[in-house]
Amino acid sequence: MWVGIDDTDSIEGGCTTYVATEIIHEIPYDLIGLPRLVRLNPNVPWKTRGNGAIAMKFGEGKREKKKIGEINGEDVFCYSSLKKEADVDEIAEIVDKVIKRNMRNDSEPSFVISKSKLPYHIYIKAVREILKKKDVEKEIKNKVIYKTYNGGRGLIGASSAIAWRPKDFTYELITYGKEKWIDKKSVIEMDKLCKSTFNNYDYENDYIAILPKAHSPVFYGIRGDDMEELIKAKNIIVSSKEERWITFKTNQATDEHLQKKRIKDIKPYESVITRGKVKKEPHTIRGGHVIFSIYDGNEIECSAYEPTKGFREIILELKRGDEVIVYGGVRKKPFTINIEKIRIIKVADVYEKVENPVCENCKKHMKSMGKGKGYKCSICGKRAGEEEAKYLKINRKIFPGFYEVPVIARRHLAKPLKRFESFS
Ligand SMILES: [Zn+2]
Repeated sequence: MWVGIDDTDSIEGGCTTYVATEIIHEIPYDLIGLPRLVRLNPNVPWKTRGNGAIAMKFGEGKREKKKIGEINGEDVFCYSSLKKEADVDEIAEIVDKVIKRNMRNDSEPSFVISKSKLPYHIYIKAVREILKKKDVEKEIKNKVIYKTYNGGRGLIGASSAIAWRPKDFTYELITYGKEKWIDKKSVIEMDKLCKSTFNNYDYENDYIAILPKAHSPVFYGIRGDDMEELIKAKNIIVSSKEERWITFKTNQATDEHLQKKRIKDIKPYESVITRGKVKKEPHTIRGGHVIFSIYDGNEIECSAYEPTKGFREIILELKRGDEVIVYGGVRKKPFTINIEKIRIIKVADVYEKVENPVCENCKKHMKSMGKGKGYKCSICGKRAGEEEAKYLKINRKIFPGFYEVPVIARRHLAKPLKRFESFS
């Protein structure tokens, strides 16, 4: 039996993954496979912080049994296959009770219980576009048991999480606790020793990225490609004792939110991969954001926001004519691509004028008549075109290659370059 939950959290705190641990702890059935943490469209304007939903499969398990966590001192296992189906009503009653106990006034939770997986296109739409609650409701109505609370916006995420098929996936081991002391050096040590983990620590900005950004029951979360190594990583970290921990299978760091698009087809709230030539050269605006534009027959603005820190220095080196592929989320106002990664395909040859043309009669430098208007000798009046000045090719400071925002500014779904190198 699949159980999907979402929006049990709210802007002010709480966390859907914590509610999942409560459900796992109280349901008298086995977990079949790992619980899933499924991130959805990061550009949805009304999202609760991380926009992450949960799907878990319960039943009577058989075959391989693996330890994936500890809740209140009890081991949590998951099984590789299902022996016997769980009782729907029993599960619904427990999930309802746990959600009511944990929900906040401003949250809009929902749960969905389904015997089978939901159609994949529900997930794809929810991770890449804007999916409406009424459309989800229409599609799942007769196939599942569901309940919504307050507005019940969580129905979108709860259904989408059950609809996810892990084609590409990673893991996150999340710990919880009230006491939150952590030794930074041990996080750095873990980062260096556990090669399959990522986004642990930002060396450039001295930032511990495994800690949650906002107030949350989460203590820390370690992300990686190897489930076993996450447990090893947790044991390297020196910190106050967590009250519970659990490992999720997740679509984080997979780039599944991105779609390849021509500039003219790009719509707000999507995340895109698009190719073009730099048209407006980068400049810094108020707030420290760096703005430029690319062109493929149509033009779109691209931004590297202030929180992307040192990444902006790379962007500032772009020149007109450079060929790039940008990866990022599309904002509506201003209409701009918020860059997560950029691939510089070709760096244009850029020339800089070093000398005005010399008059062949007078052997003196001619004077500029204004930008684009050519030159004139102030002695004999002879004229010369722009192209007759002396130009030198400038030394470009950037090179073709893939560049990403620093760990501190990375989004859950963005695939780090580290995963490109080692896993595809
Ligand atoms: Zn002259």
